[in-house]
Amino acid sequence: MRIDILTLFPKMFEDFSSTGIFQRAIENKLVELNVYNIRDYTHDKHHVVDDYPYGGGAGMVMKPEPIFEAVESILQPNDKDEKVSVILTTPRGRLFTQKIADELTQYDRLVIICGHYEGVDERIHRYLANDEISIGDYVLSGGEPAATVIVDAVTRLIPGVLGSEESAKDDSHSGGLLEYPQYTRPPVFRDWEVPEILLSGNHGEIARWRREQSLIRTAERRPELLDKVELSSKEIRLVNEKRKNLSEEE
Ligand code: SAM
Repeated sequence: MRIDILTLFPKMFEDFSSTGIFQRAIENKLVELNVYNIRDYTHDKHHVVDDYPYGGGAGMVMKPEPIFEAVESILQPNDKDEKVSVILTTPRGRLFTQKIADELTQYDRLVIICGHYEGVDERIHRYLANDEISIGDYVLSGGEPAATVIVDAVTRLIPGVLGSEESAKDDSHSGGLLEYPQYTRPPVFRDWEVPEILLSGNHGEIARWRREQSLIRTAERRPELLDKVELSSKEIRLVNEKRKNLSEEE
């Protein structure tokens, strides 16, 4: 997958692309990351990228010309068979989820636009981006952290990016539930013991325990997620019992 990021602060992506899983993905040619400075697509002496909002109001708005020019030049020449998504980071976008991360892995190319100031000219929302993504119901100063979140979540789902020792399959949200508790050595730390079942070597029982823990944790912390997951009648009973206990505790 090729990922192109448009930003006013290219330096913010330097560490990200040179560490951990992402660096390995680049080295193994599973991902190509290019970061472009939007200012390089201005033609005036002062490289102006923003201007006052029409109608008045606080702050500045990012101008359409450099961003249109950057995206159009990055996508030229473009292989017509490539699946491309031009994503605008914005708190007005659809809320980013694991499902959307998974959906984005279907593209050959992602172009991600990072806004700043009061955001970008509406014509970028309407006529340039085909997708608008928010990483949460809060406002960041710029789209760079959002782009990093999107790129990280998508990259780890690309086949081959995670080594055999890592797996996205059981991660929270992958199957619609939160992940079960994880433990590593030592078996006893400050009197806190690892649940016996995990030391038993009985893989069937361990899988059952983990599923149960996932259900309990999800019922406790994110009950609304359970509405979208298919559960057996035994699991429904377990979840209802947990919910009942929780409401009694309140
Ligand atoms: N005035 C804008 C609004 O209320 O919708 C917010 C602009 S924000 C200060 C500047 C930039 O940060 C946005 O253009 C966007 O790129 C990015 N941004 C802020 N919050 C975000 C979020 N929750 N998700 C994704 N991007 C965000």
